[in-house]
Amino acid sequence: MKAYDGMYIGGAWRPAAGQDVIEVVNPVDEQVIGTVPAGTAQDVDTAVRAARAALPEWAATPPAERAARLAALRDVLVARADEIAETVTAELGSPLKFSQAVHAAVPIAVAGSYAELAATYAFEEKTGNSVVHHEPVGVVAAITPWNYPLHQIVAKVAPALAAGCTIVVKPAEDTPLVARLFADAVHEAGIPAGVFNLVTGLGPVAGQALAEHPGVDLVSFTGSTVVGRHIAAIAAGQVKKVALELGGKSANVILPTADLAKAVNVGVANVMSNSGQTCSAWTRMLVHRDQYDEAVGLAAGAAAKYGERIGPVVNAKQQARVRGYIEKGVAEGARLVAGGPEAPREKGYFVSPTVFADVTPDMTIAQEEIFGPVLSILRYDDEEDALRIANGTVYGLAGAVWAGDEAEAVAFARRMETGQVDINGGRFNPLAPFGGYKQSGVGRELGVHGLAEYLQTKSLQF
Ligand code: NAP
Ligand code: MG
Repeated sequence: MKAYDGMYIGGAWRPAAGQDVIEVVNPVDEQVIGTVPAGTAQDVDTAVRAARAALPEWAATPPAERAARLAALRDVLVARADEIAETVTAELGSPLKFSQAVHAAVPIAVAGSYAELAATYAFEEKTGNSVVHHEPVGVVAAITPWNYPLHQIVAKVAPALAAGCTIVVKPAEDTPLVARLFADAVHEAGIPAGVFNLVTGLGPVAGQALAEHPGVDLVSFTGSTVVGRHIAAIAAGQVKKVALELGGKSANVILPTADLAKAVNVGVANVMSNSGQTCSAWTRMLVHRDQYDEAVGLAAGAAAKYGERIGPVVNAKQQARVRGYIEKGVAEGARLVAGGPEAPREKGYFVSPTVFADVTPDMTIAQEEIFGPVLSILRYDDEEDALRIANGTVYGLAGAVWAGDEAEAVAFARRMETGQVDINGGRFNPLAPFGGYKQSGVGRELGVHGLAEYLQTKSLQF
């Protein structure tokens, strides 16, 4: 157990304004592994002032030089990849192999992509008698969740810095240690003082103060829809830009011509990955009624194999919340074919990989984001019915379509109200825009579309 000290502000670790701390708990054994300072409005104010002071020089730094600093940051992350994976495993509980392959590797890819984009993006263009300059939005506030703790930070910091913005990050209270490691990496990469600042703390205190701060020009938030709505309202009051990455209830649509076993197995793996704590997870599997029983059998078998391999969920509250949803599924008449509400181990915040059959579109477990290892399998009659069910939630973040013929899958995907669709198991692409239709959010992250979020245009006429 280690008591970590200070906030990373203005290029150095400085004492926090208050005395309060947050305990960081290992979800596997429920042991406190460390404490970090709980930031106050005063820490937030100091950090925003540092970001504002650093803005003119960073905004005026040639993009090629910003690119070089981001490349240096990527290299530091590569050098510290093992430490990153171990830290995420300790505070999130994910298996070490997954932490290496995803929690460490994806942020490295994203940082690298923005090093390249900063160097190649056309920050100036001509249209008619105008020259249009793409200028940084200004000071960014980033409020991030715990589910992919470093990825969520890098997906905001890297494009913001590439654009010439400066930033203050408030990471999730459950996963502040990898955020602190990232601050050290930023320092090591030689990014100028004040360009990146970190304030650890509680959402309703430090997060709220950051969203409300008049010195912030854009708030980029990833997390729950409830808090996202609250942040958007604060931003609206001050006419600040806002970007929101919220929840999802994504559909995995298996058309009758698909390779059923492959679609089901990949679909189950997608949901169980990171213990179901993925906003883009395909938590609703849609199967034609003629193939339904076979799919349910395959899914139950696949889920059973995850029993020993799956990590815990992040904390006791999340465990109770997920178990509450499982109980609700049973109460509303869905049929458990794998897992259930009982905790599979005495210690740790574990939830059994759970699969529900006979789920109907109106059930709570078919509408609300559970954020745990729980799959709902729904039956459809024909393609129109499948489309209605797929589009029948308030969310629209991701999805999948499987068909024997790629063109058939694409035609269906084009009619889905959602920001991303994987065709026959298409791989994650760190350059493709990620973000939601409907209540899944506002704005896009990653690649060139993610960069554009941090830019505003100025037109000069000649
Ligand atoms: P959350 O409360 O929305 O947390 C996201 C971030 O917002 C955290 O840094 C949080 O701080 C901060 N925050 C909370 N209240 C705030 C406020 N009033 N003002 C400013 N910032 C605030 O999410 P959660 O409680 O961790 O998880 C609850 C549910 O949200 C999950 O079950 C899941 O359904 C959903 N979720 C979605 C995503 C996603 O990627 N879309 C990620 C995580 C969770 P604290 O850490 O101190 O709370
Ligand atoms: Mg919270």
